[in-house]
Amino acid sequence: MSETETKRCIYPGCERPAVPPHPLGGPQPAFCDLEEHNALRAHQERQRIANESAPAASAGER
Ligand SMILES: [Zn+2]
Repeated sequence: MSETETKRCIYPGCERPAVPPHPLGGPQPAFCDLEEHNALRAHQERQRIANESAPAASAGER
């Protein structure tokens, strides 16, 4: 087991390492150091990708 396992940014398509945990404690952020990579943006990006990969998925549903 390695303790140096690097956590990856969970932003869709991003393969940068997540920022390290704060030295004073607290959970490690799930995103890299890019400003636009945050929970809200990741959520929006995932929805955009889902819409692209599944066009008109609910077409017959009214
Ligand atoms: Zn990222």
